[in-house]
Amino acid sequence: VYTIEQVKALVREFADFPSKGILFRDIFPIFREPAAVECLVSHFVERIQATGKQVDVVVGLDARGFLLGPLIALRLGVAFAPVRKGGKLPGSVARVTYQKEYGEDVFEMQADAVTKGQQVVIVDDLLATGGSCGAAEELVHKLEGVVVLDAFIIRLAGLEGDKRLRAPVYALMEC
Ligand code: IMP
Repeated sequence: VYTIEQVKALVREFADFPSKGILFRDIFPIFREPAAVECLVSHFVERIQATGKQVDVVVGLDARGFLLGPLIALRLGVAFAPVRKGGKLPGSVARVTYQKEYGEDVFEMQADAVTKGQQVVIVDDLLATGGSCGAAEELVHKLEGVVVLDAFIIRLAGLEGDKRLRAPVYALMEC
């Protein structure tokens, strides 16, 4: 059995990855320990339930939001929907262009993944500048959904990513 503090201790740092000067936080060691995953998922489910908001859809961000998102959705008994990089999803999609550190990127969601008035929790591994999650919020708004919480394992303190976000933010740990 893992405590949430033991789960946090599994997150590792890699200097100069994927390029020089970047300190990369790696959450994959958590996923090597089923008991740690169990603890992590239960923790997020409790935090989501503590908001008192009804949740209809958990939205995970490409790509590490796909690890935790479906597990939380399954536990809540609600839908999961992915936000993907441009050109990956079939059928009618909603699309936003957002600013990255170097140039622009495109995020898409299937147009029928969220319906009018549905309440959404957005999940990703890490919040840095908030550019990615802000674009995901915009996609949900385009589909006339309501974002009730943005949930992360890690929030990089100092970047103030939550200031770019419209919904309340929860992060398990600050780095
Ligand atoms: P933002 O858009 O600047 O908030 O960056 C967040 C996105 O970049 C998320 O989708 C993260 O998965 C990814 N990201 C940025 N830095 C790291 C890191 O150190 N570890 C894992 N993912 C990261």
